[in-house]
Amino acid sequence: RVPESGQVAPGGDRPPAPPPPDSAWRVLLRHMRQSWRPLLLGGVLGLLASVIGLVLPLVVRRLVDDLGADRPVAGVLLLMGALVVLSAAAGPLGEYVLRRAGESIVLTARRRLISHLMRLRISAFDSSEPGDLMSRVTSDTTLIRQVAADSLIGGITGGVALVATATMMGVLDPVLLVVTLGVLAVAGTVLRLIMPQVQRASQEVQQSVGLMGAALERVLGALRTVKASGAEQREGAAVHRAAEESWRSSVRAAKWLALAGNTGELAIQLAFFTVLAVGGARVTSGAIDVGTLIAFLMYVYFLIGPLQLLIRAFGQYQVGAAAITRLQEAERLPAEPENPPAPLPAPETAPASLEFRDVHFRYAPDLPLVHRGVTFSVPARGMTAFVGPSGAGKTTLFSLIERFYEPTSGSILLNGRDVGAWDLPELRAMIGYVEQDAPVLSGSLRENLLLGAPDASDDEMRRVLRTTRLDDLVERLPNGLDSLLGSRGTKLSGGERQRVAIARALLRRPRLLLLDEATSQLDAVNEAALRKTVTEVARTTTVLVVAHRLSTVTQADRIVVVDAGTILAIGTHAELIEAEPLYAELATTQFLPANHR
Ligand code: ADP
Ligand code: MG
Repeated sequence: RVPESGQVAPGGDRPPAPPPPDSAWRVLLRHMRQSWRPLLLGGVLGLLASVIGLVLPLVVRRLVDDLGADRPVAGVLLLMGALVVLSAAAGPLGEYVLRRAGESIVLTARRRLISHLMRLRISAFDSSEPGDLMSRVTSDTTLIRQVAADSLIGGITGGVALVATATMMGVLDPVLLVVTLGVLAVAGTVLRLIMPQVQRASQEVQQSVGLMGAALERVLGALRTVKASGAEQREGAAVHRAAEESWRSSVRAAKWLALAGNTGELAIQLAFFTVLAVGGARVTSGAIDVGTLIAFLMYVYFLIGPLQLLIRAFGQYQVGAAAITRLQEAERLPAEPENPPAPLPAPETAPASLEFRDVHFRYAPDLPLVHRGVTFSVPARGMTAFVGPSGAGKTTLFSLIERFYEPTSGSILLNGRDVGAWDLPELRAMIGYVEQDAPVLSGSLRENLLLGAPDASDDEMRRVLRTTRLDDLVERLPNGLDSLLGSRGTKLSGGERQRVAIARALLRRPRLLLLDEATSQLDAVNEAALRKTVTEVARTTTVLVVAHRLSTVTQADRIVVVDAGTILAIGTHAELIEAEPLYAELATTQFLPANHR
């Protein structure tokens, strides 16, 4: 499932394979250790409240006795008042402390997962759906709270009460205790068969919640196309299916949980009758008296409460364990090393040179090679155009430079140094990258521009807005730079989006600028203007463009012809028209003329 594994990256700092996942128990204990103080305090307060509840009847009895005997009752009344106040305070306080600890545990789990997701390698998205990952952050994390806070307390109180009751029973008659425990052990075995089913069903519930997120994301992320294709119903049905699947699995989990609860009750009934039979025999033989048997039978019934608590806690643990498994899956997706962001290079930093040496690359071990021995070099400064049929591997070249993927073999050198040996943030700080689809993020124009250069001054911003001819747009927008652009920039035209993306890249003062079909949607006037800007930039920066426009290509200092993952030729327009048939063909049939709209 991890496409990168098994490839050898020269100089790459591929992290070692992650260790096997911890058991759910371990993860849970880790979470609980981190909040042990509030968990303990909450548990103690809860116990205190219930102990007071147990003691109060005794105090009331004393009060009634004293009243009947005409003794002074002020002391008892005071004690009763104090106990009532204490229990009224301890109950809610304990619950608050516990809930708070549970929420802290959720927050920690979320933080951990979010920082991992932010570092995910691009390749992780070749095999996972963002919508599903989102559900793990939002939904699965909340299930840990249940286990860590609620079921822990249930488990402890239930366990303590169970042991206490069993001790009393042992004092009354050890033989009958053994009989009782024997019956309960049978029930325990049945429960151990049921509980894994709860965990399986819970995992399926969460899986379908993830599917629902992915299906929703698929529709909402391409709503125009879905509507234009008349596919709302069919796509909606997929979301509904996931929701129903989640319902079905929840019902299955409920069934197993109900069965588990019932098992506890049945066990008690069974224990009661067994104790009655064995105890009757023991009374007859004179081993115990009738009073002991009756007391013992009462204790058997007392076991129900703690037993139910324990079973519930066990069930909740299964649900939590299912969630923990899903969190661990997400945490094991390949991620980049955690590095603090590097500052942008100073303006006077020299532009970067670039060299590909016999680079081979495939996206996954079972996929064909995209690059088969790519070799070229680009000096610092100047513009290099990459041309070739679609699918030739041009975009992939840029992905390798940004180290979104590592080459399968061969090396890529930036300023003579293997990109794998660069500190990743430092490498990316050198580069301005406009990807093929010129994405704009939801938010304001200002936020979009400052994405890659948060410290840029207003002056710098104004300058790039002018050079990318966005100044008119800013004046037209209702709130200028602070106008919101809609999700994925839907309030802009395609050409405007591309110019925002270029402006964003320029604001980083890149030492290497990668433009992947970045002006494909511009009109002739804007294209000519942007071309001038890029030529200007290329005087001080190394510029690589993937272009389909003759005007852009002819202007480049050198043209690299890419076909099926190999470099066919490198030269100027005049040279290639003569010497390279594919280029001549592209130039006459595929390149768009300069005034193309
Ligand atoms: P170009 O930009 O020259 O049109 P690309 O570099 O985008 O071509 O793609 C080169 C080849 O790699 C294509 O055959 C494409 O289908 C394949 N490809 C691109 N991205 C992926 C990916 N994430 N996983 C698998 N194959 C991919
Ligand atoms: Mg491409």
